[in-house]
Amino acid sequence: MTGALLVGALFGVTAEALALALVGYLAHSFRQLYIFQRWLRDIAHDSRLEPPESSGVWGEIFDGIHRLQRREREAALYLKDILDKAQESSAALEMAVVMINDKGGLSWWNKAAEVLLGFRQPQDQQQSVTNLLREPRFIDYFEKNNYADPLRIPSPTNKKQMLEFQITLFGEGERLMLVRDVSQMHRLESMRSDFVGNVSHELRTPITVINGYLETLLDHRDAVAPRWIKPLEQMQQQAQRMENIVRDLLTLTRLETKALPRVQDEIHLPSLLREVKNEAELAFAAKHHHFALTCEGEYRVRGSMNELYSAVSNLVFNAAKYTQEGGEIHIRLGKSSTGLSIEVKDNGAGIEEHHLPRLTERFYRVDESRSTDTGGTGLGLAIVKHVLARHGASLQIASTVGVGSRFTCHFPAERVLADAAPGTALSASA
Ligand code: ADP
Repeated sequence: MTGALLVGALFGVTAEALALALVGYLAHSFRQLYIFQRWLRDIAHDSRLEPPESSGVWGEIFDGIHRLQRREREAALYLKDILDKAQESSAALEMAVVMINDKGGLSWWNKAAEVLLGFRQPQDQQQSVTNLLREPRFIDYFEKNNYADPLRIPSPTNKKQMLEFQITLFGEGERLMLVRDVSQMHRLESMRSDFVGNVSHELRTPITVINGYLETLLDHRDAVAPRWIKPLEQMQQQAQRMENIVRDLLTLTRLETKALPRVQDEIHLPSLLREVKNEAELAFAAKHHHFALTCEGEYRVRGSMNELYSAVSNLVFNAAKYTQEGGEIHIRLGKSSTGLSIEVKDNGAGIEEHHLPRLTERFYRVDESRSTDTGGTGLGLAIVKHVLARHGASLQIASTVGVGSRFTCHFPAERVLADAAPGTALSASA
């Protein structure tokens, strides 16, 4: 531009020279723009295309864009490499990996999902997972959106195969579903359960016979030498304990192996609790406990009457067993944040905190001598936990040494059938 001005001034045509120079500059810029636009168009098809040769400002623009574009390409390649590796490794997994979009449709799955679940590529792309896996227990599990525990059901492609489903929520309503074949583990668990069931069943008759003879002998004390009375009484006590253990083991085996019947009882909880309370009052009359029952409504739940009766009576009898004479035992039925709760509270010795997580394990006892003195089997709370789980409920235990314990059964709202106006206590105390 300065050159044009000088030349223009020399020949006395400054304005014309300036105009000419501007036209030239504009023509050059338009040409560079055109080259730039063509390069942008071509680069969309071939990302490796070098930038056009240019100098000055345009050269710097081309080089700058080329550098940015190269960096982006490298980042994309790196991501693709990671994705390829993730897909390759999950494709090689024996476990089925399924990605489900926020509408419940299949967006990606590995080879194992085709074998275990029968998904077909590409027909099943975007198909709703609950259309493809129609087992009602799976649909319930999928729609509940609470995936804390895995679900076990037979494979839709092979009924002899047992599958375990675990779902994780991620992103915005998307789900990652992992499915593994647990047939072997399931078979071993069934064998263990069958074995315990069979042994308990076989032991039942001999124990009943021994118990029968001991009872007859003790009924005829006069005919027995006095020095044998105490040993016979101890034998009877231990035989009775054995009978209780066998009975509880059989109950546990039944709870593990048999599903709840499809048609279930409608259980009027206030009546059930009143019956348990009366039974406990009779059984523990010698301990002079004070039993109280509060029902905040005429609540009914769906389930097995026998099982729930046994669970609640286990809790109430434990409270009575592990509370010193003249204790306070309070049973309360009422609404809770999740649905309904039954609470059994005592002012007994309490349990140290480190025992609490293990209390529902089979044969776990806080104090061996205290439990055997009370005729306990160590299986009561395991039965309670199983029964509650079968009813979609859970057990919560809180205890303070020297103050007492509180065992709460939480039932989900969908188990509850109808209720009376909350706050109507049926019977305050006995
Ligand atoms: P057990 O047949 O021995 O009572 P459970 O499974 O019913 O077996 O209970 C396990 C252990 O938990 C008991 O041995 C006892 O030590 C403790 N326990 C249960 N309920 C209470 C309670 N209400 N107060 C104090 N300890 C309890």
